[in-house]
Amino acid sequence: MIVFNKPPYTGNEEKYVLSAMRSDKIAGDGKFTGLCHQWFNDKLGCAKSLLTPNCTQALEIAAILIGTEPGDEIIMPSYTFVSTANAFVLRGAKIIFVDIRPDTMNIDEMLIEQAITTKTKAIVPVHYAGVACEMDTIMDIANRHSLYVIEDAAQGMMSTYKGKPLGTIGHLGAFSFHETKNYTSGGEGGLLIINDVQFVKRAEIIREKGTNRSQFFRGMVDKYSWVDLGSSYLPCELQAAYLWGQLEKADVINSSRLNAWNFYFQMLSPLQQKGLVKFSTIPSECSHNAHMFYMKVKDINERTELLAYLESKDISAVFHYIPLHSAIAGNKYSKFIGDDKFTTRESECLIRLPLWFGIEEVMLKHICTTILDFYA
Ligand SMILES: *Cc1c(COP(=O)(O)O)cnc(C)c1O
Repeated sequence: MIVFNKPPYTGNEEKYVLSAMRSDKIAGDGKFTGLCHQWFNDKLGCAKSLLTPNCTQALEIAAILIGTEPGDEIIMPSYTFVSTANAFVLRGAKIIFVDIRPDTMNIDEMLIEQAITTKTKAIVPVHYAGVACEMDTIMDIANRHSLYVIEDAAQGMMSTYKGKPLGTIGHLGAFSFHETKNYTSGGEGGLLIINDVQFVKRAEIIREKGTNRSQFFRGMVDKYSWVDLGSSYLPCELQAAYLWGQLEKADVINSSRLNAWNFYFQMLSPLQQKGLVKFSTIPSECSHNAHMFYMKVKDINERTELLAYLESKDISAVFHYIPLHSAIAGNKYSKFIGDDKFTTRESECLIRLPLWFGIEEVMLKHICTTILDFYA
């Protein structure tokens, strides 16, 4: 069986996790968290980076930071993971969906402005498959309407837009280190990136249960106490230690994934040339991280047939994202503005192929041959 995903593992994770276990500090914000923060600060050039137990909670902190209140409207694509919406729904906001572009499956930047009202507070672009949204246009709209931009860069570590790392363009950015993402902190993990310095101080407080404990540890105050809203948003050192093993090998992981991605692209390209399937478009201003290799087939029936065929040949491929506006909670918390021209239709045609750090060429070849056979 060729599995759909294997959590990335490079070799040093074990050593670092053991070292964290044997140290005197296994709660959050110890040595390994510090190493990870430093790596992100250097790599991303952000005002502040804060590890979180997952990306969902990084988005939750972001929703608190921008002051999301009941009745506020937050614009995002419906084709995304549920956490993108829930983080804001938890604060009482209404989610406003607009359609996606079929070429990248990202929010259609040209549809955002018509969805803005006096209640709009923020835009949340989701960089699907680690391929950037049209950020210049989105930032221009946000600036003209005084809106916040929170990048859901859960899938976007190591990707860039016009040379800028994803997550560093908006006011805030959120990343995931879940086991299905390119880098993991041992199964679950996340990161909040702060680019707008006005949020730095409060973000630390919210992450530390609404206390100024971080300032206390730095010797800036002589006792710490409850000063604001907050929750427990620190990952433990074991998570950070696992992640550190991966960050040290970030380029190795990235180039291995890109090789696999390019292999799929080349070997399956005859199908695209014949118009049988469509791959994602990588706009020229974007460099991507091979988070995902997906293709879109004719329709949902063909997808069901192909998935079953792959399964019968011991290949596990998957689809995902039932558009949020068509889900049960979508009726309650959201509204789709404009026509759903592509969100539902394109999501029904999409198949993700196995892609993980260390997937072997024989496996890739077997998967491609099987797909070519299906269409022959
Ligand atoms: C994975 C993912 C999330 C959630 O990440 P967790 O770390 O599992 O909380 C959010 N948004 C998108 C687009 C994702 O792909």
